[in-house]
Amino acid sequence: MQYFPIFLDAQQLQCLVIGAGEVAARKVELLCKTPATIHVVAPEACDTIKQLVADNKVQFSQREFNETDLEAAQIVFVATNNSTLNAQISAIAKAQNILVNVVDNTPLCSFITPSIIDRTPLIVAMSSSGTAPVLLRYLRQKLEALIPANLSILASLSEKFRDRVKATFSNVNQRRHFWEQVLESDIAETALAGKVEQAEQALAHRLAHPDEVPAGAVYLVGAGPGDPELLTFKAIRYMQKADLVVYDRLVSKEILELVRRDAEKIYVGKKASLHSVPQAQINQLLVKAAKEGKRVVRLKGGDPYIFGRGGEEVQELIEHDIPFHVVPGITAASGASTYAGIPLTHRDHAQSVVFSTGHLQDGSINLDWPALVQKNQTLVFYMGLTGLGIICQQLIAHGMSADMDIALVQSATTPQQKVVTGTLATIQDNVAKANIQPPALIIVGTVVSLHSVITT
Ligand code: SAH
Repeated sequence: MQYFPIFLDAQQLQCLVIGAGEVAARKVELLCKTPATIHVVAPEACDTIKQLVADNKVQFSQREFNETDLEAAQIVFVATNNSTLNAQISAIAKAQNILVNVVDNTPLCSFITPSIIDRTPLIVAMSSSGTAPVLLRYLRQKLEALIPANLSILASLSEKFRDRVKATFSNVNQRRHFWEQVLESDIAETALAGKVEQAEQALAHRLAHPDEVPAGAVYLVGAGPGDPELLTFKAIRYMQKADLVVYDRLVSKEILELVRRDAEKIYVGKKASLHSVPQAQINQLLVKAAKEGKRVVRLKGGDPYIFGRGGEEVQELIEHDIPFHVVPGITAASGASTYAGIPLTHRDHAQSVVFSTGHLQDGSINLDWPALVQKNQTLVFYMGLTGLGIICQQLIAHGMSADMDIALVQSATTPQQKVVTGTLATIQDNVAKANIQPPALIIVGTVVSLHSVITT
């Protein structure tokens, strides 16, 4: 390890920055996140530095560098566009044992700056020792996605309870075990969701009853329309934490692959020729597992609150006092719209969009048809494949032109995606010929005409 990582206390730190172009500005902006005193020396300053000077964030000397500038400095950043000058300053600083960094010139540096993931007070600093900046950037991107944005709240929580935990457990191992349990539990998720007071109460309870089974929780997670890359960071995090995953038909195999390996998985969707598990039974399953202390992920296609019965499940959880979090997902209408190149609204076509069920009940679809037949409006029907004939017939009967554009999108966002277009009069034939299978979404409106123009 040629480079030794340390964290400098910036409270009393005197920084000198020589150069005030955009490269210097990036360092200065970073330094401005700390309480360090920053002195910038350069004959000219870029707009970013000028703004920081105007905001009183830095002290600026508009002139050439001279050696006396180093007198007050403990660390120096050099970023002029004169390489000879950069080398000279580096040599002088090193001779005076002042830490020096010449931006983008590792051999002239006595220290190099890490790549940073800032979740203050938690800071991750990484380096490739100056050898592989692209690899480092790649790694940082991966980690940024993995480390929750609100981690700082969790860090503050542990700081606040540190002394109380110490007083409760005299033994280091016991303390470590306690914190590990807290981080794995729903207390951490509650804090990360920004519900600090609730998290503090739960933590205090845990501390008072360390031998109780930690409370379980249910995470209602929107899995999106199929493409695993459309999952949110939060969805992935919960999936990786789950003890039990309860999923239905619309959740793709590729998405299930991303669930924690040793999590138990229960399928509650329709099996061929069988009915799906009744909703009441699913609700009971979620409540029972959470009461046993399990972290349950209820994985649903699209968004849990759009034709997903998420509302009903949450009501049940509230009744039983089970902690829960809901993660929105990309709903099928959004997925189908973008992947099929059919914008749902468009200045020239539609100023509103209606999401409707197309589900048949007793052979008919009970909808406010006159409200649906409006100009400049896009209609999206979920669960409408079986009722397609009735939908077209009712729209025409209520005044929509039989020539109105309509599209069916099968398995949107997946490799099985198929798009069939036509008019209210022709679509049924086209759908039959294309052998469209569920899940399929229906889009009605002149926006459908854009499908042939917009290819994605
Ligand atoms: N909560 C889900 C909808 C569940 S209702 C969401 O927000 O997307 C089930 C219906 O959604 C299906 O009948 C179909 O109309 C639609 N659907 C879901 N995923 C789909 C997909 N990948 N492609 C097309 N339609 C889809």
